[in-house]
Amino acid sequence: SEFVKEEFRRGTLRSKTVEDILTPLKDCFMLPSTAVLDFSTMSEIMQSGYTRVPVYEEERSNIVEILYVKDLALVDPADCTPMTTITKFYNHPLHFVFNDTKLDAMLEEFKKGNSHLAIVQRVNNEGEGDPFYEVLGLVTLEDVIEEIIKSE
Ligand code: ATP
Ligand code: ATP
Repeated sequence: SEFVKEEFRRGTLRSKTVEDILTPLKDCFMLPSTAVLDFSTMSEIMQSGYTRVPVYEEERSNIVEILYVKDLALVDPADCTPMTTITKFYNHPLHFVFNDTKLDAMLEEFKKGNSHLAIVQRVNNEGEGDPFYEVLGLVTLEDVIEEIIKSE
């Protein structure tokens, strides 16, 4: 019945976490902050098909900025504009969430904010050293909606 379906959907959203549905860091299309927006980089971005491209410094786990494909509308590839010129100009906020965030809470966050992408991190306290934040991947509104649809 509709009631059972609704309860099932709510249950999924309450029990599943962003870690269960994220796109792992190794699969994320990202670019280094040292990138230059020349013809080759801009083609790569277009061919990726993604709307949002995390930008990292030194290591992929160190995401510092986010580029939206629409930020490229006024960029001429012939100018070879440094990536940071564009990311600093638009300065889109980065949104971080913890790995154990439940999908219902994530959905509320996405509804509140203007960003529909979050970077998932966890506290890594394995090993000898001090605990540190470890980036696991990214999650978007689309990933949460897909979970809802799957459970209908
Ligand atoms: P939009 O649909 O708003 O154009 P999009 O197609 O770039 O955006 P989403 O629809 O939000 O992205 O997400 C589709 C899937 O792609 C999701 O599984 C999401 O985790 C993943 N995804 C989004 N951005 C990236 C990226 N830069 N690299 C790898 N996977 C991504
Ligand atoms: P994105 O979030 O992928 O960057 P967007 O912000 O252009 O895309 P959506 O997020 O798909 O657009 O939609 C946000 C709202 O803006 C929706 O209510 C949609 O109907 C509306 N919208 C989208 N494009 C237009 C447009 N050209 N004119 C008026 N309203 C629009």
